[in-house]
Amino acid sequence: MTQKLAGKVAIITGASTGIGAATAITLAEEGAYVAIAARRADKLNEVAQKIEASGGKVLQVITDVTDEAQVQNLIAKTKETFGRIDILVNNAGIAIAGQIANANTDDWRKMINVNIFGVLYATHAVLPILLEQKSGHIVNVSSVAGRTVRAGIGLYNLTKWGVNAFSESLRLEVTPQNIRVTVVEPGMVNTEIDQHISDPVAYEKSQALRKSITPLEAEDVANAIAYAVSQPERVDINEILIRPTTQY
Ligand code: NDP
Repeated sequence: MTQKLAGKVAIITGASTGIGAATAITLAEEGAYVAIAARRADKLNEVAQKIEASGGKVLQVITDVTDEAQVQNLIAKTKETFGRIDILVNNAGIAIAGQIANANTDDWRKMINVNIFGVLYATHAVLPILLEQKSGHIVNVSSVAGRTVRAGIGLYNLTKWGVNAFSESLRLEVTPQNIRVTVVEPGMVNTEIDQHISDPVAYEKSQALRKSITPLEAEDVANAIAYAVSQPERVDINEILIRPTTQY
């Protein structure tokens, strides 16, 4: 590895599995000190062990991103441990597919709390630090579903379109102060994400779609994030849309 991120400190939410875990490992390989956050301690520990085995430096902070106080603790602990924060990857997210009619509205609240409030709380808590440093980079993991819409994933569409709109508005606010904002929009990725779908019809539909293409691997998205955050400070990659080749 090129160690392009030597001396940088990165926080990755939802780093216990999937895209977040791969991103933490990739950024650590590039030399960043990483703070990894999620709810499952055992999974987080597995990721931390991989990073440490390759000589990386990692801080584990058990965090539920829907709880503002826990998110504030994540940001404070990272600053206290590593002295600064350069990169925040707002990656934690869930996707519960299903029709709008007769939906379980608890699923809506869960998705809005993780996909929207998780991003807002972490951004709000980290911004004063980045503004004081006069440098920093926020990467928000959105989705192709934040640019397009499909029947049967209306609430997920709502959250990811929200993330895209918020990211662009945030970018316009902070870009004069040398803070970079990137939104990353993956297509279908081979991760655990479908496990939250309780509606059997929606689950089967999602699985069928997955089997009809060759999905991305989590590492493909991690590499895109690493590309964005490794650019010289004058370069702000605003948006990365990354689809499996056979997904339209
Ligand atoms: P995974 O299910 O593998 O990972 C989701 C991560 O989010 C886990 O680490 C999970 O950790 C964490 N998470 C969920 N809820 C919370 C919470 N309340 N607090 C803290 N962490 C939480 O899925 P992916 O890697 O696929 O998803 C990562 C991101 O990528 C999401 O934002 C998703 O919307 C987006 N995405 C995924 C696509 C795909 O096809 N897989 C396509 C496009 C975008 P834990 O359960 O331990 O808390």
